[in-house]
Amino acid sequence: MRVSWTAGDGVRHLAFRLDAEDSITGLCTDGQPLKLATNSCRVELPHDPGEIHPDLLALAAWTVVAPWTRRRVVFDRPISPELAEAIEEGWGIEAGPVGGSPRSGSRLAISYSGGADSAAVAAMLPDAPFVHFQRVRHPRVPDRWTHYRADVLARLVTRTARESGRELTTVRSDLEFTLAEPRPGYPEHHAVAAGALLLADELDLGGIAFGYELGSRWLGGDRYLLRYTPDNPMWAAHGAWGRAFAAAGLNLVLPVGGVSEAVTMRLALASPLREHVRWCLRGVDGPCGTCGKCLRKEFIVASVERRPLRTTITADRPVARKWQQPPPYGGQEMIEYGCARVPGIEDTVFAKAAAHLNATEESTAWLDRCYPPAIEEIPEPWRERVRAFMAAEVGFMDEDEARRVETWGLREELS
Ligand SMILES: [Zn+2]
Repeated sequence: MRVSWTAGDGVRHLAFRLDAEDSITGLCTDGQPLKLATNSCRVELPHDPGEIHPDLLALAAWTVVAPWTRRRVVFDRPISPELAEAIEEGWGIEAGPVGGSPRSGSRLAISYSGGADSAAVAAMLPDAPFVHFQRVRHPRVPDRWTHYRADVLARLVTRTARESGRELTTVRSDLEFTLAEPRPGYPEHHAVAAGALLLADELDLGGIAFGYELGSRWLGGDRYLLRYTPDNPMWAAHGAWGRAFAAAGLNLVLPVGGVSEAVTMRLALASPLREHVRWCLRGVDGPCGTCGKCLRKEFIVASVERRPLRTTITADRPVARKWQQPPPYGGQEMIEYGCARVPGIEDTVFAKAAAHLNATEESTAWLDRCYPPAIEEIPEPWRERVRAFMAAEVGFMDEDEARRVETWGLREELS
């Protein structure tokens, strides 16, 4: 894989060329097969930051090209030995040319999506700047995803930042269109940070905080099912991506990595950002209320507020189909949590899931507290602050509860 960046008018263009051994079908770090659509993309910054450290440019490119790289990656300028080693150790990929020294920075920014998880992070870090990624069209790839209203979301995030007095940088990019299959999206989940990487020197960033919660970090997340994942290659501090970001002086920070979506939702709904929290990318004047994401989030809100489910979605609709099947489910911990708490669950689209899961408030109480090892992997400059917030606002799991995390999925396999 050969990678080059060119600059002009605040726009950075990335072009890459596959080597003979590379392939247009590859794997995301989470195991999802990905098919390449095109070999170029751009990142529009609000203004030109001038010189960018080569490690930042290289890592931003790596978040796009990693799935399709088989043996080596050649960047257009020398990277630090530290970053080259992180790529070699993390992926078994030879990276170069090597030369120069690593960078560092001191501030922590939030990769802000507008959803409840990143709003919870914002509530915890009231003075951290936001960096928002906005999808834009690619000049060479037809956009068959026009219902995806990234523009509406970006306007909402702008209003959120203005009304809460936050520093905000919105980065616009078409990099998701490098992906043909399964659909346009981030080639690696970390590509959402491409703009933060390119601006890290200018903003003096030493860390980037994401809203990935307990399910994504420790319970396997969306595409894994029912598996304790201490060595999660995407989000563990010691995983391949954690080490690569640390080598580039932009540490991955998961302030809500130890708490479930029930807790992030509770924190978001109790925060000044409450009115601005938005997880649906379809609706224009608010969430569409009809997509699978709206259904899942409404279910979590109802479970946190302990009120009946408010939805017009019926069991025969495609978005509700999976809840008519037996488990396992993606993000099953929250389905158990909600089934145990939403009044009248037996009259909802989750009735069958609830009957299969047999969850109780007691069996899901661990999801109301913070998993302590998640605090220990937060980089030192920010660790005590997150620990103090969790101690004051959430509380920590005891040993029995922590064991629920560490045996997640085992009960089902044994039974
Ligand atoms: Zn929706």
